[in-house]
Amino acid sequence: LLAHLIIPILGNIRVYCRIRPFLSGQSSKQTTIEYIGENGELVVVNPLKQGKESRRMFKFNKVFNPAATQEEVFADTQPLIRSVLDGYNVCIFAYGQTGSGKTYTMTGPNASSKEDWGVNYRALNDLFQISQSRKSSIAYEVGVQMVEIYNEQVRDLLSNAVPDASMHSVRSTEDVLELMNIGLMNRAVGATALNERSSRSHSILTVHVRGVDLETDAVLRGSLHLVDLAGSERVDRSEATGDRLREAQHINKSLSALGDVIFALAQKSPHVPYRNSKLTQVLQSSLGGQAKTLMFVQLNPDLDSYSETVSTLKFAERVS
Ligand code: ADP
Ligand code: MG
Repeated sequence: LLAHLIIPILGNIRVYCRIRPFLSGQSSKQTTIEYIGENGELVVVNPLKQGKESRRMFKFNKVFNPAATQEEVFADTQPLIRSVLDGYNVCIFAYGQTGSGKTYTMTGPNASSKEDWGVNYRALNDLFQISQSRKSSIAYEVGVQMVEIYNEQVRDLLSNAVPDASMHSVRSTEDVLELMNIGLMNRAVGATALNERSSRSHSILTVHVRGVDLETDAVLRGSLHLVDLAGSERVDRSEATGDRLREAQHINKSLSALGDVIFALAQKSPHVPYRNSKLTQVLQSSLGGQAKTLMFVQLNPDLDSYSETVSTLKFAERVS
């Protein structure tokens, strides 16, 4: 087996792979995933080939199998969240085709059930809990912002919560739940079943933390970007026209710009091309330098998704 090492060179970029389970009612139960190792190995099978050539091994910092719970996934994400309170900038994003579980990982299927909470809610909950436990020595302030990038335009999803404030001060997980609800509702506006907007736009939840050391008055600042990227699936140029084609071109451009930035960082290149897309401009402060980056590579398990799965894995391979 040819091993494609997806373990990044830089210690501050890590890549986790998560495979979603088959959904109930999904007819095809044939899978491209042949093997998931304990140490981040993943073997995928090409259904059109035979023998040795049909298999490829990839290696990540971690692979979560379809049975992994939200809690298990967060347990490996938590250390990054904690470093935000120590003054680091952190970026966590989910990459994959539409339907591969990006929103499930980042937001979760149901905000009203704590067990279902994705990384976003758990991260904020953690930030409040830790800041509370340190309150005798450090006074923290937390602010959140929620934007969507659609066709290279940035839209504030919370502007009708408090007009003219791009950053919203929050004191508890409940405050965050409320704001995120507003944001998610705003995001859904204009979506049709046929052209679900959430899969055509990037959504970014930004958390800014400011801590004042009560003894020395020293101030530290950290930030967290939580990103649910637009679906990475390639759109058939011969079929897409008009708006659909324009959307697809914008998505392509911004995802490749993101890949280029992370590639440049992993190569320690002196020039990092942040300015090539709105997405990389918005995320600039949390990519590179001392910042810590985590990418969730989301995969569909079914055989039909083989070519998208391989293209997702190739993206991950390039940025590592
Ligand atoms: P994406 O955001 O990538 O388009 P979703 O997160 O909406 O994908 O997931 C597609 C479907 O699969 C949803 O119905 C979601 O609830 C389900 N799903 C995704 N990941 C999981 C998982 N780990 N466990 C159970 N269901 C999942
Ligand atoms: Mg989604």
